[in-house]
Amino acid sequence: MLSYQCAFCDDAVHETSADLRVLKVSAAEKEGFQELFVHRRCLVAALRPAFPLGPVLEPTVAEQR
Ligand SMILES: [Zn+2]
Repeated sequence: MLSYQCAFCDDAVHETSADLRVLKVSAAEKEGFQELFVHRRCLVAALRPAFPLGPVLEPTVAEQR
């Protein structure tokens, strides 16, 4: 099974994991973008607590079990 390295915690995050999220980072003066593979929980933990989470960042049913 393919897995990536979480950009926040350095642990593996598997391609089929319900916790996998992909950040696409770009800069106005640079061409292209960089993809960062992260755990949803790690990304949410890096945000300020009151940051409003959209559907993509809310825990899935599988994660809540
Ligand atoms: Zn992580």
